[in-house]
Amino acid sequence: MRATRLVAAVVATVILAQFFGFFRAVVAVLLFYFILVVGFRYMRFIVLAPPDPEIADVGSLNLKYVCTMCGLELKVEKAAKERAPSHCMEPMVLVRENGQPPLRPV
Ligand SMILES: [Zn+2]
Repeated sequence: MRATRLVAAVVATVILAQFFGFFRAVVAVLLFYFILVVGFRYMRFIVLAPPDPEIADVGSLNLKYVCTMCGLELKVEKAAKERAPSHCMEPMVLVRENGQPPLRPV
């Protein structure tokens, strides 16, 4: 497989070199190969993209998050990951229904 590619590259270089010169032919073949590899990697990345995350209904758990920077309070109804949401570039703090949110005067 690798030898086949090498032979194809050499053949393409020899053919192109007759029209455009050796240096430009080598550059063209190298660029072609580079773009091909990047394209295949990109296509594979698109095809093998991870499936949509499983969304769990956590509304009954009364999960509340408070932003320690601005005081925004969120109640989480559905969650796809166990990480706390972020606000004001900071992870939010989990508080319970009867917990005292660490609110700051805005
Ligand atoms: Zn905030």
